[in-house]
Amino acid sequence: MNEAVQTSSTFTPRVFSGIQPSGGLTLGNYLGAMKRFVDMQNEGSFETVYCMVDLHAITVWQDPDKLRRATRELCAGFIAAGIDPNKSILFNQSQVAEHAQLAWIFNCVARMGWMQRMTQWKDKAGKNQQNASLGLLAYPALMAADILIYHATHVPVGEDQKQHLELTRDVAIKFNHDYGVDFFPITEPVIEGAATRVMSLRDGSKKMSKSDPSDASRINMTDDADTIAKKIRKAKTDPDALPSESDGLEDRPEARNLVNIYAALAEQSVEDVLRDVGGKQFSEFKPILSELAVEKLSPISTEMARLMQEQDEIDRILSHGAEQARALAAPILKKTYEIVGMVGA
Ligand code: ATP
Ligand code: MG
Repeated sequence: MNEAVQTSSTFTPRVFSGIQPSGGLTLGNYLGAMKRFVDMQNEGSFETVYCMVDLHAITVWQDPDKLRRATRELCAGFIAAGIDPNKSILFNQSQVAEHAQLAWIFNCVARMGWMQRMTQWKDKAGKNQQNASLGLLAYPALMAADILIYHATHVPVGEDQKQHLELTRDVAIKFNHDYGVDFFPITEPVIEGAATRVMSLRDGSKKMSKSDPSDASRINMTDDADTIAKKIRKAKTDPDALPSESDGLEDRPEARNLVNIYAALAEQSVEDVLRDVGGKQFSEFKPILSELAVEKLSPISTEMARLMQEQDEIDRILSHGAEQARALAAPILKKTYEIVGMVGA
């Protein structure tokens, strides 16, 4: 092995995560991902790299004008939620070409069977897989590239992304093994907190998603207080009172979802929440939950709306972030090309 491809098994603690501009941010994205991105930024023990993954968004059809707007609004959401562009690298994926370049290498490392097993592929492609985009199938290889192009060691995500992170580890292991190197880290998923899987307000068996056709299924970060209260009031529940202990939430997915949301917003454990609200009917609990949700979300939505008036500032932040990201990604891509045997790298 020549000097240039010598690698090390110790990696700088570095966090990477991304959100698709495939619609507006939801409460699920906030509690399962963004709020925790902010915590990891402020903890101070990691370099933090956060991305608007626009190349992922186009794996299903996106209207170009809406995509542009959603990307800027997502950037406003990151900042309003507490991501500081002076502390974290904040950018949109398409502006750092190394993501797509490494994804191609990973398309050649990952196996078809790995991709076809992914539940997100099965859910999103639905019954008509032949008509889904090739990008939707290859999505996890691009996601592995997003993470590994920074040699990221930790990836905070919601529960739904666990399978893709396992695949990321498999890609790193297979690449390292096939080329006899110790070049890519085996990334740790960070799936923590009371709201790692926020469910649809209309169907307790389905994840809340920004691309769900039903707006009533989710709370958007841009919803006003009345809309939030109305959606929570109409949220599907069962007729029983809330239990006093978490065992009592078993087989009650809708009840568990609302309690989890409350716990995550209040930064309390589910047990502590139930100690307070156990015995209450939903007619009493829902207004309390709405009030807390409005209290926590309205400062963020107000700040998002303000930032959206300053498009030049958002574009400047994204372009500076992309420059910083490129500085990390370029040497890692170059080394990958050397390892793989590309002349000129
Ligand atoms: P889409 O429907 O377009 O896939 P999405 O709402 O699933 O959108 P993504 O951009 O795919 O959002 O995911 C961004 C991050 O938010 C990921 O870390 C994902 O795990 C997390 N996340 C998404 N939905 C939820 C949810 N309902 N609960 C907790 N975390 C979630
Ligand atoms: Mg998703």
